[in-house]
Amino acid sequence: MMKLLRSYKTELAPDEAQVAALYRHAGAARFAYNWGLEWKSNIHLFNMLPHPKLKTPTAVDLHRELVRLKKGKLSWMYEVSKCAPQEALRDLDAAFSNFFAHRASFPNFKSRKRGVGSFTLTGAISVRPAEIHLPRIGWVRLKERGYKPCRAHINSITISERAKRWYVAVNVVIEERREELTTPPGPVVGVDRGLNSLAVVSDETVLENPRVLHRYERKLKHLQRNLCRKQKGSSNRRRAREALARLNMRIRNTRLDAIQKFTTMLAKTKPVIVVEDLDVKNMMGNHHLAKAIADAAWGEISRQLRYKTEWYGSALITADRWYPSTKRCSRCGHVKEEMPLGERVFRCEACGLVADRDLNAARNLAEWPGVARTLKTPVEGGVQSTAKPLIQPPGESGTISLGRGPGRWMS
Ligand SMILES: [Zn+2]
Repeated sequence: MMKLLRSYKTELAPDEAQVAALYRHAGAARFAYNWGLEWKSNIHLFNMLPHPKLKTPTAVDLHRELVRLKKGKLSWMYEVSKCAPQEALRDLDAAFSNFFAHRASFPNFKSRKRGVGSFTLTGAISVRPAEIHLPRIGWVRLKERGYKPCRAHINSITISERAKRWYVAVNVVIEERREELTTPPGPVVGVDRGLNSLAVVSDETVLENPRVLHRYERKLKHLQRNLCRKQKGSSNRRRAREALARLNMRIRNTRLDAIQKFTTMLAKTKPVIVVEDLDVKNMMGNHHLAKAIADAAWGEISRQLRYKTEWYGSALITADRWYPSTKRCSRCGHVKEEMPLGERVFRCEACGLVADRDLNAARNLAEWPGVARTLKTPVEGGVQSTAKPLIQPPGESGTISLGRGPGRWMS
């Protein structure tokens, strides 16, 4: 048996009183975090001086002190579940250990200006298909029916706000037998980030940017212009800013939804998925918006593939960064001197192959020689060798175009 942690995030549909309670909880969590941070950082500063008797308080120490204060000037805290500040202090502990282990920078104060934030609850939480029971808040309706696992053991839930909408992430523990995971059949596939699409799979499946986004982007420009015209500090400006935030969120959710479906499809149906080793952090450095979005989308795709392949018993393999997946011919193995970024079509000087640039790269990834070495067990269908032609010789038109095959995958 093996324990898997899974998180299910969906939107809440709280009524007015519940919204007020959610704000109070988020406020209490933020307060506790900042209060604990102030205390801890003072002591941290003292500790730099020779002062051996001072010990950094733990989450438990801080919570005890907070409970004492609650009886006095912090009586408003009685209105919120004690979990919210408690979990915030635990988060703070984690932030400090990350800092001391050189994994993160010194924790920052949580500012209201940067959003309401989130809070975590544990304890008496139960789930029905269309609602969730939260301590101190009661039954809150969910926007999506039947998404949450009703019977799984709930570890904790995290509630967060974004553009005045509330989301709940339910973290559950699932016990799974390793043997029960059956590897999906089929050949190894390579997935490459596309130039115009979000991703291209070596079996000609394409993850397009959702079509509706074009309309949203026009609207986005309009709203941005609208915001600029409004007077600073006016309520019109606030309304315009909120409308912009809502639209940005809708765009983000639409894209995320497409990515979710795509990665689930891959992890469920492909036994081995090979991706390129790209340093996402390095890529983020550019200021071109479309490029930045594509980078972010690709980062999200690889992040999701990483955990979903584990869920569904398939494998994710990263080809090493020196493998010339874009410059290599996926039919004969010839490696081109150069393949400029703007070039949409791959043309092989050696065998005459003409193929879409991204599809050629994805097919090369599927053929990465390291796959067999990385895998412990051989895959049904086998790892295809370079000698075997993967792409049909070019037809009358001379190009193999993407998106006409039955494998086209659209959101
Ligand atoms: Zn060739």
